Amino acid sequence: MKGYKIGSFLLVILLAIALVGCAGLTNPNPQDSQDKKNNLKEEQNIGSPLKVSFIDVGQADAALIQIPNGKNIVIDAGKNNDGEFLIKYLEDQGIKEIHILIGTHPHEDHIGGMDKVIENFKIGQVIMPKVTHNTRTFEDVLLAVQEKGLKIKEGKAGVQLDLGLPAEGLPPVSAEILAPMSGKYEDLNNYSIVLRLVYGANAFLFTGDAEDVSEKEMLASGVNLKADVLKVGHHGSNSSTTKDFLTAVDPKHAIISVGKDNSYGHPTEKVLKRLREKGAVIYRTDQAGTITVTSDGSTLTFALTSP
Ligand SMILES: [Zn+2]
Repeated sequence: MKGYKIGSFLLVILLAIALVGCAGLTNPNPQDSQDKKNNLKEEQNIGSPLKVSFIDVGQADAALIQIPNGKNIVIDAGKNNDGEFLIKYLEDQGIKEIHILIGTHPHEDHIGGMDKVIENFKIGQVIMPKVTHNTRTFEDVLLAVQEKGLKIKEGKAGVQLDLGLPAEGLPPVSAEILAPMSGKYEDLNNYSIVLRLVYGANAFLFTGDAEDVSEKEMLASGVNLKADVLKVGHHGSNSSTTKDFLTAVDPKHAIISVGKDNSYGHPTEKVLKRLREKGAVIYRTDQAGTITVTSDGSTLTFALTSP
């Protein structure tokens, strides 16, 4: 008898909970769901300007592109010991998913932290050039890709990134891979994925460590290289940023991702002079820290971490 009473008492409570639950489902507050939608939009930065952050990872490369429809692209992930820093940086920017992750080429200063990034975020697509490198760093990336059940898509000239529909009322963002154009190079740097990103009237060119050989190929192909913002190739080394290439890109702003007092002598005086002669304003991560460029489709705004 006692058992029966307790049983029916529980049943009443369960029914009450179920009814309250149903009421919540069948009669949703429209204001609530609108608020939820807005919160989600805010969380994913939907409708915000395009934001490109050249992250200060010392003598290495890493960039985050946040596009107005909420998608995120990461190009390179610094050195092996930059993984933890990058994870924190991306988390601080509210990044939960990296829709497209690009490893420009298999050198340690570009893919070092990529395994950690893959392990810690939801990843849509991984894009890398078709070349292997016999290092632990490269193996770690392949393992992380495999463990996450992902596949590497080949990055080569002509590939358009799938960035989805534009945010409501805003112009679309497009991104095309311009290099590598060949299947074989002597220097690993020339396998670098070169990406041109366009938002309204603004264009960005990300060059990885592409050298003169790749620059010549792009020039010869006649592809549009023009960009307001150039991520200077190979940390400002003499191997890259040839005069003809620079003339074709015609950048107003040049970003150099470089470490303080690095042993390579990057950026070289030669490249700095070429950039100045072209009238480009130079920003260096060793002086400015992380450099964030915001675009509303027509105007660029620069924010530096250090003055
Ligand atoms: Zn490099």
